[in-house]
Amino acid sequence: MKIKSPLEVYNYLPRTNCGECGYDTCMSFAAHILDRSAKVEDCKPLVEEAKKDPKIKEKLDELLELTAPEILEVAIGTGDSAIKIGGEEVLHRHELTFFNPTAFFYDVWDTLDDRAIDERCSRVVEYRKFYVGKFLTLDGIAVRCTSGDPKRFREVVKKVAGYGKPMVLVSLDADCMKAALEEVAETRPLIYAATEGNWKEFLELSLDYNVPVVLRAKDLDVLKSMAATFRQAGVKDIVLDPVTDPLGEGLKGTFERVIQLRRTAIAGEDKDVAYPIMVTPIAAWLIDGDEVTKSYWEAVIASMFIVKYADVMIFRSIDQHVVMPTITLRFNIYTDPRTPVQVEPGLRPINDPSPEDPVFITTNFALTYYTVESDLTSGGIKGWLLVLDTGGLGVEVSVAGGQFTASKVKELIEETKIAEKVNHKILVIPGLAARLQGAIEDETGWKVLVGPMDSGRIKGWLENNWPPQD
Ligand code: SF4
Repeated sequence: MKIKSPLEVYNYLPRTNCGECGYDTCMSFAAHILDRSAKVEDCKPLVEEAKKDPKIKEKLDELLELTAPEILEVAIGTGDSAIKIGGEEVLHRHELTFFNPTAFFYDVWDTLDDRAIDERCSRVVEYRKFYVGKFLTLDGIAVRCTSGDPKRFREVVKKVAGYGKPMVLVSLDADCMKAALEEVAETRPLIYAATEGNWKEFLELSLDYNVPVVLRAKDLDVLKSMAATFRQAGVKDIVLDPVTDPLGEGLKGTFERVIQLRRTAIAGEDKDVAYPIMVTPIAAWLIDGDEVTKSYWEAVIASMFIVKYADVMIFRSIDQHVVMPTITLRFNIYTDPRTPVQVEPGLRPINDPSPEDPVFITTNFALTYYTVESDLTSGGIKGWLLVLDTGGLGVEVSVAGGQFTASKVKELIEETKIAEKVNHKILVIPGLAARLQGAIEDETGWKVLVGPMDSGRIKGWLENNWPPQD
């Protein structure tokens, strides 16, 4: 984004403070444009005026260009399952946040039999991993032409399209690619890849079928020159592949090219490299061909480029030892550091509790909540768990910072009507909140017991403390 202050954005807005964008003032809207929690198009008066007045249209276009992300955002697929890649603003997550997680595609190839293709596609579609309150899933399927036969490639691409996932079509042969695009262009697949040898045909295909295209070259000058040619010809959605070649040259070369591309782009020095980056960890071990012993390399290589700066990847292995670490790392790198991971506050019954069972309280910081919830559930403990809105902060920090207070506990007790569900007025607070014991008793009229420091010890603690003797 070229604009750095809300005042600069404000100068482009109607400045009527009409509130149609959902913000009280134009200045507030401008601030949200800068952190990308609002879009310029949400200012309806500006958009409507631009339709009538060419000068306002010019102003709107200028604002859109100035507030566009440094790295172009490219959509693959259509409808609800479409994914966006790129759209990044910074080199380091702590400077703002990363926006679009690296998209993970898993390949099938057209010399596989149909049963094997179905089996691999189903595994991609069905994969779900529960992690910190969310289900993590895989993004799409890459269909590789290994037969060299346009008819077979088209057939397989059609079959895979039936799974409804975004696709990358992989072939250097323009005839094969054309056959596939005739079948599935409207699903907006990413085509891979234009090279020094075939770029003219792929330029035509990308324009004719209006699909995003990957440009592939190890020499960054060649890559940049291809990108400039495609852009000038009218191709908007470009992805760059600087070639992942860990066996040929070692990972150092790939790493350096990726870093150089992204640094130059974010610095705004060269818009011909300001595109999403493709990395293919699969290349590392296919050459040796021993899938069982080499597949872990995909996890190793992918990890490096999830951190820096791959926007899309093609994998071969769908085994847990590759998928689980990479998808977990991706989640952690792409969570917004400005917003703690949190869960909904409220009341959770655990293990079908009765009115005699204890009432616990914890915070809505996701890691704390899921640890406590899992310790209670797996320990077979029946109870009522109150989840306090601390803005996603853990117990110790929120007690110190004033987000975990006696008055907020009172509000939560009232909102959840917990007193109507139990036949006692006893609350168990975390050991780390012990200093609030007296204040909560005074504020709520409930008796407060101080539980253990660690929720893993609740079971043993209950054996000695529940039901209370007096
Ligand atoms: Fe200002 Fe536009 Fe928002 Fe109205 S809709 S408050 S003019 S930014």
